[in-house]
Amino acid sequence: MMNFRVGQGWDRHPLQKGRRCILGGVHFEESPVGPLGHSDGDAMVHALIDALLGAAGLGDIGEHFPDTDSRYSGVDSLDLLTVAWKTVTEKGFTFGNADCTIICEQPKISPRKSAMREKMATVLGIDSELINIKATRGEGLGPEGRGECVTALATVLLSTGKIS
Ligand code: MG
Repeated sequence: MMNFRVGQGWDRHPLQKGRRCILGGVHFEESPVGPLGHSDGDAMVHALIDALLGAAGLGDIGEHFPDTDSRYSGVDSLDLLTVAWKTVTEKGFTFGNADCTIICEQPKISPRKSAMREKMATVLGIDSELINIKATRGEGLGPEGRGECVTALATVLLSTGKIS
C-alpha cells in the first residue's frame, strides 16, 4: 500500500552587502548582497531540508545540524541536504515532488531557477522536473520588500512506495 507524507519548510536569512550569495546551491556571483548565516545561509536549501525532515517525521534542521556546532560554520548547505536526505531515505521514503517559493528583492532568481532545480535534484538523485521553484517579491512590504532578507518556503511529498 502507498503511504503518502507531506512536509513543509520555511526559512529566512538577513541579506548583507558583500556577502557571498548562495541560494538553492547556486552561486549568484553578480549579487551585491548575500544571505547571512552560520552556514552558507542558503535559505532555499534549508527550507527544503526542513520540508523533507517534516514529511519523514524527523524533526527539524536545527536538531540535526545545530548552529552552535562549529562543524557547520560556513558549511555548504548542499552537504547538509545530502546528509538529511540519507536519513530520510533510510526510513524507506521515496521522493514525490517539491514545490518551492523564494521571496526577495535581490538577487534576481528567475534566470537561475533551472540551475537551482538541477543542483538540488542532483543531491537527491531525482529528476529536476520533480522540483518546482517560484520566485516572487515583497512589493515594498515587510523585510523582504525592503530588501532586508530572503525568505524561502518548500512543500515536499514523500511516499513509502513508488509514485508513478
Ligand atoms: Mg537557515
